[in-house]
Amino acid sequence: MVKVKIRLGTIFDDTEFFEVKMACTKCGQCCMNTQMELLPEDIERITSLGYRLEDFAVFDGEIWRLRNVDRHCVFLNPHTMECTIYENRPIGCRLYPLVYDDVEGPYIDKECPAWNTVKQSEIDRLGKYLSLFIARSRQTNQWVRLRHGVRS
Ligand code: SF4
Repeated sequence: MVKVKIRLGTIFDDTEFFEVKMACTKCGQCCMNTQMELLPEDIERITSLGYRLEDFAVFDGEIWRLRNVDRHCVFLNPHTMECTIYENRPIGCRLYPLVYDDVEGPYIDKECPAWNTVKQSEIDRLGKYLSLFIARSRQTNQWVRLRHGVRS
């Protein structure tokens, strides 16, 4: 699949920057029952591939998230356990297993079997952007209303 570059003029246009360097086994565990937040940049990139917003996203009243089908992310091929939009996957999927808690701040989710392959230098490099990531995800609905005319 072609890697898409979009330009909304934010740091989240740069998908590669937000990829955690780790030894991901591509087990697909993080794609099960996903609640992954979507940023405006993610929606712009994925819709530019030809997907309609409602095909892959759901709004929970505050945040737009990846849609599940049969208890896994709509983009996971359950036979191969591969992401079908891997080159264009959302920023949050690239950051995982680095996640954020309002109280604890950034931390590594030990549900990921490869969590201990993430070096402290990666946590230091990207951890400082996690609160910005969450703040950006809270802007997605306003952006969707303007860009896609979706009333939610
Ligand atoms: S759970 Fe961890 S090892 Fe498995 S696919 Fe997700 S990031 Fe990779």
